[in-house]
Amino acid sequence: MRIAYQYRLRPTSSQIALMEQWLELLRKQYNYRLAERFTWWEQNRCPINACPFICHLPELKDRPDFYSQKRDLVNTKARFPEYQAIHSQVLQNCVERVHKAFDRWLKGDCNGQRAGKPRFKGVGRYRSLTFPQMKQDCIQGRFIHLPKLGAVKLVQHRPLPEGFVIKTATLTRKADGWYVTLSLQDSRVPELTPEPPTLENTFALAARSALGIDVGLDSFLVTDEGESVPVPRYYRKAELRLKRLQRALSRKQKRSNRRRKALKPLAKAHLKVANQRKDFHYKTVKKLVSKGKHIAYEALNIKGIAGTRLAKSAYDAGWGQFLQILAVKAERAGLRAIAVNPNGTSQSCASCGQKVPKGLSDRWHSCPHCGLQLSRDQNAAINIKYRAVGHPVLKAQEMSFTGVTEKPALFIATQRGATALAARFPSGCRRRSALLWHESGSMSLS
Ligand SMILES: [Zn+2]
Repeated sequence: MRIAYQYRLRPTSSQIALMEQWLELLRKQYNYRLAERFTWWEQNRCPINACPFICHLPELKDRPDFYSQKRDLVNTKARFPEYQAIHSQVLQNCVERVHKAFDRWLKGDCNGQRAGKPRFKGVGRYRSLTFPQMKQDCIQGRFIHLPKLGAVKLVQHRPLPEGFVIKTATLTRKADGWYVTLSLQDSRVPELTPEPPTLENTFALAARSALGIDVGLDSFLVTDEGESVPVPRYYRKAELRLKRLQRALSRKQKRSNRRRKALKPLAKAHLKVANQRKDFHYKTVKKLVSKGKHIAYEALNIKGIAGTRLAKSAYDAGWGQFLQILAVKAERAGLRAIAVNPNGTSQSCASCGQKVPKGLSDRWHSCPHCGLQLSRDQNAAINIKYRAVGHPVLKAQEMSFTGVTEKPALFIATQRGATALAARFPSGCRRRSALLWHESGSMSLS
């Protein structure tokens, strides 16, 4: 398992100056390598169905890839000696970032999700540098020893966890100072503690091993037991202050000294909102995971919601980050976080399975078929839990009278929305077609 621990750094002013200088050089290098790749495409593309009869073939250059660009760093160092001051692996990591950004754009990740076209980074937009190899005893006392930077003071607010080895260290410049993120790895696989949820043990009241949660904007989440967590709305609370700071910034002349100064409080205010939200997410996840049950949630189309009128509130709630933290923390606790298909979870009745249509404003579920009275969100949460254990509600009813009639399929395999699980156990690329692009070299993607 790979986890990350972040500590605050207290570098000296000369160390800050050095790191700032590195970042600027790395930014230029990143832009150059990116441009190299874009230029290759420009020079070597030719539409297949419109090739002229007489064409002057340009001298075909080798296509720049990760290895050729890495080899070329020698020339960079020869032409610009200031690059020799940077730790060699940090510089190579910059090329790797270009490689990854390009691959995510053209090939996509293991789920076939493609990212946008990589962008050139403006001044101050390159904010972190990575040491891909670290000594295990790099932290000594209140200092962390970094190659070429020396001993940098750090605030170690918690010790490193037992049994983990340090893989990489990333230095990040944030609005309120410098941070180091240590990536730690533990090759032991945590055991799944409670037995996986099935029809039998979920329906038996004594051994409930799954918990359904319904996330929303009315309350941040509602469990199938009816507990609810209110939405904290940190952004909404800070909006007035942010607005004022933003206005102050906008009044300043571009590229002026005063504008640069006005940027700092604004960046800090945004950072504070983000930190508050993250803290809330961690605390909520902690409460959920400490129940010791597998957790079922809806695989929401967050991007879809963010395109509607609910965008600001959706971003303020930050479900995506919450679910990410949930998946990691559940795994560490030996539990499963199961994503289920969200279609119709709030519309069907949790007791009889009949459709009970309601609009967004109907907050109460009252079933005309069986007389169930419940809050809308709790009803949805129960449905989500049922889906995670792999049966529709009606089958659950049947079962309560006649006992289990059919063996449920392994719930992970049956869930179309179990993307979170798939992402944690990637077994090669799902979309071969995206990969095929690489072989054919054509820009069309199926
Ligand atoms: Zn009903």
